[in-house]
Amino acid sequence: MTPILNADLHCHSVVSDGTLTPEALAARAKANGVELWALTDHDEIGGQQRAAAAAQALGLHYLTGVEISVTFLDQTVHIVGLGFNPEDPVLKLGLSQTRGGRGQRAMDMSDSLAKVGISGAYEGACKFVGNPELISRTHFARFLVESGVCRDTYEVFRKYLTEGKPGFVPHRWASLKDAVRWIREAGGVAVIAHPARYKFSTNEEFALFTEFKNHGGQGVEVVTGSHSAAEYLTYADTAREFGLAASRGSDFHSPAESHTELGTLPFLPDKLTPVWELLADRIQYTSDTSPGANAAMGH
Ligand code: AMP
Ligand code: MN
Ligand code: MN
Ligand code: MN
Repeated sequence: MTPILNADLHCHSVVSDGTLTPEALAARAKANGVELWALTDHDEIGGQQRAAAAAQALGLHYLTGVEISVTFLDQTVHIVGLGFNPEDPVLKLGLSQTRGGRGQRAMDMSDSLAKVGISGAYEGACKFVGNPELISRTHFARFLVESGVCRDTYEVFRKYLTEGKPGFVPHRWASLKDAVRWIREAGGVAVIAHPARYKFSTNEEFALFTEFKNHGGQGVEVVTGSHSAAEYLTYADTAREFGLAASRGSDFHSPAESHTELGTLPFLPDKLTPVWELLADRIQYTSDTSPGANAAMGH
């Protein structure tokens, strides 16, 4: 097989805060020329079977995926897991615990929005939720757009849902150590998601990468929808400096909201190890896309 270049290993479905089903995302990835795809819902792997089956039916190479919410030095950091066994009980329990605080947090967010005159936000956000265990800030953002408070979800985050703003409720997620351990124990590779998004000092960022490596983390997103072209080069250097493999993913959520479409980012810079090279034996693929092939495969 020729080397894979167009890998898109980061996106979200209705199983977390995306607006498309796993099947629609698979079709969109295929149509956009993606060669290797992973669905990485927040703190949730309930969409993995559907994503893998849809990819298989399209002849699209697939890796299992998840994006775990972590608290590190009082900030939220996202760790992507790739190529793990989705039946692993340690991973499943860890994710279920991580999701656990979201219901109360959402009610607290609603209370704090009510104090600035926005009422009914919890009920409003719930209308956009596809998975009752996974209510996120994105669902509140969609409600605030629908009700005319803001023009788009970016404005909502800027004015209401980020640190220091009226609808923001601090939350403690999983530890970095646990998130990396769950992914590794399930046979996967852990990847630091969109590192340029965090507001760490140089020393704090060094601590994140050092501890991540010490816990057994193996990859970092270099080319992502959250990075500028300059940041691709910065984090390519960081990957080489820390001996980490490099990942690539759009972080696509929605045709109406996302600035970055599946499979359309530049390829990884040179002299990096693509993270999927570490996962060659975890890639799921069948070339038989004839009708009935899925049934024969037991899906
Ligand atoms: P949560 O896991 O509930 O804290 O929600 C996090 C999600 O909100 C992210 O995965 C993004 O989809 C979205 N998000 C976070 N910050 C922003 C931002 N500044 N602009 C747009 N979307 C954001
Ligand atoms: Mn999201
Ligand atoms: Mn993220
Ligand atoms: Mn994401």
